[in-house]
Amino acid sequence: MDFTWTDEDAAYRARIRAFLDRELPDNWDEIARHGPGSPEQTEFSLNFCPKLAEEGLLIPHWPEEWGGAARPPWEHFILGEEMWRAGEPRGAQYMNVNWIGPVLMKYGSDAQKAQYIPPMAEGRAIWCQGFSEPNAGSDLASLRTRAVREGEDYVINGQKIWTSYAGLASTCFLLAQTGGAEGGRSGIAIFLVPMDTPGIEVRAIPSLIGHGDIHEVFFTDVRVPASCRLGEEGEGWSIISYALANERVGIPRYEMGTAELDAMVAELKRRDAFSDSIVRSRASAAAAACEAARLQVYRVVDGRARNEPPGNESNLARVAVIAAEQAVADFGMDFLPDAFSGADHMSMLSHHERAIVTGIAAGAAEIQLNLIARRHLNLPKGA
Ligand SMILES: Cc1cc2nc3c(=O)[nH]c(=O)nc-3n(C[C@H](O)[C@H](O)[C@H](O)COP(=O)(O)OP(=O)(O)OC[C@H]3O[C@@H](n4cnc5c(N)ncnc54)[C@H](O)[C@@H]3O)c2cc1C
Repeated sequence: MDFTWTDEDAAYRARIRAFLDRELPDNWDEIARHGPGSPEQTEFSLNFCPKLAEEGLLIPHWPEEWGGAARPPWEHFILGEEMWRAGEPRGAQYMNVNWIGPVLMKYGSDAQKAQYIPPMAEGRAIWCQGFSEPNAGSDLASLRTRAVREGEDYVINGQKIWTSYAGLASTCFLLAQTGGAEGGRSGIAIFLVPMDTPGIEVRAIPSLIGHGDIHEVFFTDVRVPASCRLGEEGEGWSIISYALANERVGIPRYEMGTAELDAMVAELKRRDAFSDSIVRSRASAAAAACEAARLQVYRVVDGRARNEPPGNESNLARVAVIAAEQAVADFGMDFLPDAFSGADHMSMLSHHERAIVTGIAAGAAEIQLNLIARRHLNLPKGA
């Protein structure tokens, strides 16, 4: 693989950086304090993403039919890296451009596409993903939220938990069981549910990463028309597998990790505390972890650029990204602990908090390791 960026790629990156320099406000560090899941950042995205769309930088990888420019996967990825380096000003809307929009294009009815894709392309839509439940996280197939067909409608009852963005979202990408009492993967269907439907209650869960970032969502006799179902009954699991393959590498967190590590090293140098060989070797190890994550992710993007079907590389990439974020956070905690208690280094504090949850959100790291053991190393289940 040739790792050199073309002149065209470099110019594209420079164009994005210039846009960010121009459009991010002076108090961006404060807005970004709690990370992309925070209400502040999600609200900010409703002002920022329309400008990004006008500039042709929101959905350049989408087909022209839906307002994109059919640009190649590598360009889309450069865009993601630059957004993450800046702290992800697209907030929740990164999900729309990376996977919700493409999933609707592939599986949506004409009416669903017409209703939901244009607002995403304009940068004006906030979605949340209703997957996890109190007893169904890693074992997602055991989810119990149930959608029962009644004539032309479904009636939904159940509870979701840890739902990011639910406080501000207008639509929920919801997983529910429509199958028989046995449930499981084959009974799962997806519903596109307007969040203002009567019977939906959202409660914020106070958390380490800030108030309003994650929620419980209760569904009590929520009645939606059958036209809200995405795909067929029982097709939910295969749709969600396609969606997650896109989501897993959609977040180049190593880019934020690298930026924070650079800032930590600069601060240590400013304090004349970067000559110790242990400090230097730990910084090198964290930098190497970020580079390893970058290269693992690039393997996946390369496969996508060649139109290869998603493979096990995305599991390896995700584990490498988690390891990189945690190496940077551990380095900061060991050698700059005071930086995390004041207001001077808010982005470091924000990165540290995100690094704690990164091995859980979007699927626990241990589950990825199980998949690598089975699919990549061919180890028997339970070994
Ligand atoms: C910040 C944040 C944002 C989130 N946002 C969303 C969201 O928007 N929408 C949504 O639906 N969910 C969201 N989640 C939920 C997330 O997807 C789940 O937390 C995750 O899938 C783990 O599920 P769980 O919490 O039920 O933990 P469990 O599945 O109960 O796991 C607990 C521990 O047991 C380990 N474990 C479980 N099973 C195995 C196994 N088979 N082998 C080895 N170890 C195992 C896990 O690794 C973990 O350490 C979010 C979570 C966080 C932290």
